[in-house]
Amino acid sequence: MATIRFQAIRETLNRQPVPVVEPNLRRSELYAANVFTISTAKHYMPKEAYNAVLAAITHGQKIDRKIADQVASGMKAWAISKGATHYTHWFQPLTGATAEKHDAFFEPVGDGAAIDKFDGGQLVQQEPDASSFPSGGIRNTFEARGYTAWDPTSPAFVMGTTLCIPTVFVSYTGEALDHKTPLLRALQSIDAAATDVARYFDKNVNKVICTLGWEQEYFLVDSALAASRQDLTLAGRMLLGHGAAKGQQLEDHYFGSIPDRALNFMRELEIECIQLGIPVKTRHNEVAPNQFEIAPLFEEANLAVDHNSLIMDVMSKVAARHNFKVLLHEKPFAGINGSGKHNNWSMATDTGVNLLGPGKTPKSNLMFLTFFINTIKAVYEYADLLRAAIASANNDHRLGANEAPPAIISVFLGQQLSAVLDELERVKDGNLSPEEKTDLKLNVVGKIPEILLDNTDRNRTSPFAFTGNKFEFRAVGSTANCAKPMMVLSTIVAQQLREFKIEVDALIESKKLKKDDAIFNVLREYIKASKKIRFEGDGYSEEWVKEAKKRGLNNFKTTPEALKAQISKKAVQLFGDHNVMNKVEIEARYEIELEEYIKKVQIEGRILGDIATNHVIPTAIAYQNTLIHNVTGLKEIFGTGFKKLAEQQMSLIEEISTHINTIKKNVDAMIDERRKANVIEHADKRADAYCNKVKPYFDTIRYHCDKLELLVDDELWPLTKYRELLFTK
Ligand code: ADP
Ligand code: MG
Repeated sequence: MATIRFQAIRETLNRQPVPVVEPNLRRSELYAANVFTISTAKHYMPKEAYNAVLAAITHGQKIDRKIADQVASGMKAWAISKGATHYTHWFQPLTGATAEKHDAFFEPVGDGAAIDKFDGGQLVQQEPDASSFPSGGIRNTFEARGYTAWDPTSPAFVMGTTLCIPTVFVSYTGEALDHKTPLLRALQSIDAAATDVARYFDKNVNKVICTLGWEQEYFLVDSALAASRQDLTLAGRMLLGHGAAKGQQLEDHYFGSIPDRALNFMRELEIECIQLGIPVKTRHNEVAPNQFEIAPLFEEANLAVDHNSLIMDVMSKVAARHNFKVLLHEKPFAGINGSGKHNNWSMATDTGVNLLGPGKTPKSNLMFLTFFINTIKAVYEYADLLRAAIASANNDHRLGANEAPPAIISVFLGQQLSAVLDELERVKDGNLSPEEKTDLKLNVVGKIPEILLDNTDRNRTSPFAFTGNKFEFRAVGSTANCAKPMMVLSTIVAQQLREFKIEVDALIESKKLKKDDAIFNVLREYIKASKKIRFEGDGYSEEWVKEAKKRGLNNFKTTPEALKAQISKKAVQLFGDHNVMNKVEIEARYEIELEEYIKKVQIEGRILGDIATNHVIPTAIAYQNTLIHNVTGLKEIFGTGFKKLAEQQMSLIEEISTHINTIKKNVDAMIDERRKANVIEHADKRADAYCNKVKPYFDTIRYHCDKLELLVDDELWPLTKYRELLFTK
């Protein structure tokens, strides 16, 4: 009966590691070989075009049609030299995947002749037939079509035989339909705000970029095993299945060949990434069986976001060549650690200074403290928006669900910096005497060492932790597009820095404070105001949940609850002020995210109902029939004495019936709730219904199915089990 399951196991056991095709070149020579980098561009286009591209990258200057033609011509020549036959505008619609539509360079020109054509028009703008990408009603409302437009700040690359041009995706009326557009706008805003503030300390600063280093966690499961379960195939996670017995003998049976197969996958992935200019360093993660992590060196945030979107795609392709399925889902296996995507974030100046890195002098440390404290204050003021930025049906299984990090947003600073902030909090009002200032600079600000001890003192339970020279936003989900959390973080810090500048300038103007004194005064107030968001303890503990509640910090455990912050007056005001998103865009996104949530839960509900009804119950009945047959046989042979002999079998028969009944009743009730939910007109109410009325059935149904898995003959059980998925290699 369980043929698919056993076939998959057999197939997996017989697998040999797939050899890695190592290119003849060294890694350093391969790096960015498939990227149209600035230095490559220099060889392929006239100086005039090259300079225009540089100006577009650094100052956002527009590129005219003539120049665009020159750039396109250079790009085409380069791409063809790399074996490209097609080109595509590569973008990140709000579906969560990347999108591409390939067009050939090839163009017939009559009489059997053809040319390779790619001009400035094709480079700069395209109109994909994009009517089925989510727009949250934007396109309908405005009867506008969407188009993609070249983003010169992220270099084009060749993947396979296609030239990929990173683009934004917007409606003809200018509303963003993708992840990249609001991010670029937010990065522009924080550039302006942070540059203004940085110039208090260094007049040479003309630009500030955000830096992002993501750490991508994932599971690798054999493709045959994954394909044997429809929940893994369709929903990316196990909707049911009993956990494997801990420390089972299976470890010594199957563990042997894991590293080889996985390692070959990783090596090949690394080679692909390096050629695409993604500076990865791979490592094995030992938290859960079959769980791994890949992390590059940090890059400018927009580029890092593109690279993360790209790698999620590349991973699946490389995995297929190695007979693996990559599970990017935040929680593929209940009871086992989930996957996240830590977003290491900082700001850097064009003078080469990391604004969240403590420096060598009191002056550079004051600059560091300024950006550090402003970030904390921003997180305090807009904690709910950060929470919303990481909300998704998948991530609900991690955040606040007995696993790290909690759904409560807090900031971890470490002992040393907490102590520094405590001292700064005592700075007196108004101008300081020269002695006081010297004391403060030398003994507080100057005391911050360049390398913080806290760098190693990691609090792994904090959703937003300072880790020596950057903040690490740990609550981001493993399937998420980093653009959203990065867009929110950049915008809230931009807002905070704007306010800071206004307040400091006001103190200098009206109260005649010296610049440093004004800065100290404002920082002191920020430290006081944002104290509630700081937490150094165990974020997983029950006490923290209580303590946070006392502090008035929100604990939004579900996506529908968390997303509401996105459409608040405060959010509309904020994103509007920074030209990141207008009200229409904000509401459209809210709608799209709710719909996505609803669809995910709906699909999971259908799969669960199907597996429970069509696989679990019939199997349980088949096994129960065996038991019944056994009991009637015993009765035939032993007559009235059978009862004692069949005692256990009879109680099993009853137990199985109880589970079957409960499963059937709950599946029916769940379907009923789905029906009711589906006719609710407004997406927010519908999402609430899916969250609070439909989803609660999942656990009950699963519980009874998992009980049956433990009772039913293993030979009959049709669903590949935890231990097989996680330990068969
Ligand atoms: P780990 O967290 O595993 O100890 P590191 O602290 O060295 O490792 O770095 C984790 C990630 O943080 C890496 O991707 C790294 O590139 C990134 N990172 C380091 N410095 C910065 C920075 N200034 N801005 C953004 N990301 C950074
Ligand atoms: Mg880390």
